[in-house]
Amino acid sequence: MLKLTIALMFSSLISYAGEPVWDANKVQLQGEKLAEGVFALYPTHSEELNAKGGAAATTGGLIVGTKGVLMIETMINERLHRQAQALNKKLTGKEIIFAVNTSAHGDHSFGNMYLPKSTRIIQHVNTHNYLATHLEDDKAFMLKYFGTGRGIEGIKPRVADILVTPMSRLSLDLGGKTVEIIDFGFAQTGGDLFVWQPDSKVMWAGNPIIASRPSLPWLLDGHLVATLETLTRVYEFLPADARVIPGHGKAIGREELKWHIDYLAAVKMNVQKAIDKGLSLEETVKSVAMPEYKGYVIFDWVHSGLNVPAAYKDLMKK
Ligand SMILES: [Zn+2]
Repeated sequence: MLKLTIALMFSSLISYAGEPVWDANKVQLQGEKLAEGVFALYPTHSEELNAKGGAAATTGGLIVGTKGVLMIETMINERLHRQAQALNKKLTGKEIIFAVNTSAHGDHSFGNMYLPKSTRIIQHVNTHNYLATHLEDDKAFMLKYFGTGRGIEGIKPRVADILVTPMSRLSLDLGGKTVEIIDFGFAQTGGDLFVWQPDSKVMWAGNPIIASRPSLPWLLDGHLVATLETLTRVYEFLPADARVIPGHGKAIGREELKWHIDYLAAVKMNVQKAIDKGLSLEETVKSVAMPEYKGYVIFDWVHSGLNVPAAYKDLMKK
């Protein structure tokens, strides 16, 4: 079911764009120092694409203590993973002792196999279970929609060493630098981890926050209501001056999360109204147009094609 949803969404995405969203053979990563020992790794095209509502490649990060480095996201293929490792060498010069995948999606986890043997990999238990049983399916659909010859064919499983259980929090001591890896609840896949560095007040959000406005959440696996509750919890957790690193974009401020939360709240309200009027799914998609949220290049696909139907299904169950 999950696979079907994803396959359908990527096929609409591809037919919309006419080509893969981004090319893993061309993306270039660069590092940005956010605070002492805290770095984001961005594709060089992020800023330009985020501003015009386009889809950028995966964002990662490095947090450094005296004992070593936590790498956030291991990227889609060997080429991008090696770029992340080279940036680590240049920016920190320290060993990668931990790596975390914020979800099971291949662009966040396929690079695990290229990490040093000594690196301990951290995943949500649901991400671990999904990859243990579905890696080949995941590769097949990534190949289909991100293209062959992008280094996806040779991906082999490398399972996690440390699992984060539902609604729990893992504290890491990197040596003079602590990191909290937190499950705030269902946020996109049900295996979503948020990475919080308290001194710098920087949080990596992964795909539940794709990028800055005008990007919108992708309810790939449904669960509108739970996603709205989780993002609200994340917002309430963050101090006013926190910075959030989205899954596919440049850093944003805490208040910018409101765009995503307000959008989901509006989808919930409008779809509920349509259900109360007895509208069908097709009628609901037509009536819940929400043009005030247009601007994202894939708006029609993500809003009408994915989020409104997901909301309809979720709210019909209640
Ligand atoms: Zn992603």
